Amino acid sequence: MGYFESPLLAAYGRLLTHAFFTRHGGVSSGQYSSLNFSSKEGDTAENVSRNLEIAASSLGFSAADFLLVRQVHGDGILTWNGNRPPVEPLMYDGIVTSSTGIALCIKTADCVPVLLADPVKKIIGAVHAGWRGTAARIVQKAVLVMQREYSCRPENILASEGPAIGPCCYEVDESVIRAMCDRSWAGFVHKGKRPDRWMLDLAGINGVQLHEAGLPPGNISIGPVCTSCRTDLLYSHRAESGRTGRSMNFIMLKVPAP
Ligand SMILES: [Zn+2]
Repeated sequence: MGYFESPLLAAYGRLLTHAFFTRHGGVSSGQYSSLNFSSKEGDTAENVSRNLEIAASSLGFSAADFLLVRQVHGDGILTWNGNRPPVEPLMYDGIVTSSTGIALCIKTADCVPVLLADPVKKIIGAVHAGWRGTAARIVQKAVLVMQREYSCRPENILASEGPAIGPCCYEVDESVIRAMCDRSWAGFVHKGKRPDRWMLDLAGINGVQLHEAGLPPGNISIGPVCTSCRTDLLYSHRAESGRTGRSMNFIMLKVPAP
């Protein structure tokens, strides 16, 4: 069992728990080896269930506490105030909650997972930002939901991006660049090695968007490694030609001690 932690969020360990899991420590084999959290790519549902149990129990809670969504590369944000996660995963790419004991989950294999926390209002969020979500400014939408629904102040919100494909490896074509043409992001797009290709820094653009939403630079942290460079540690859709698993990233407000 391996996972990355964000020092920004770990400082609030009394209030919340979080993890960006690596691919190690699960039961899946072959290209899904081994801590895979998606059965949509060909792994068995039994393996995924077992991996959810392993991940949850390693951090002291139950697999039933995971709030999973069906990610659709959109910009919809689910506001969830129930005591339990919904029975069936709903179609969203962002989740915000004030509920304790519910782990907001985002699955990734190159896209940027962003975990949000306002330790003042005790509100958390989790966002899936691929290039489509990034072009739609999904992290800013999640921050707006935290402001509108829970009166969070952007200057109190912490944002930690997890492992994602880096500008070293994320080559895109003109259709993606066209969707990304915003001047404030210009520093995060560089000419690729091949003609008509560009190298995109998705994590950097999401960082700029969070800053534009009002988060101070010190409240924003970028992921520790590139998924495509480190397939020994993480799943990469790009580096593994689409035949791979999905990593889990989550954040949960702790249930206060009685
Ligand atoms: Zn890389």
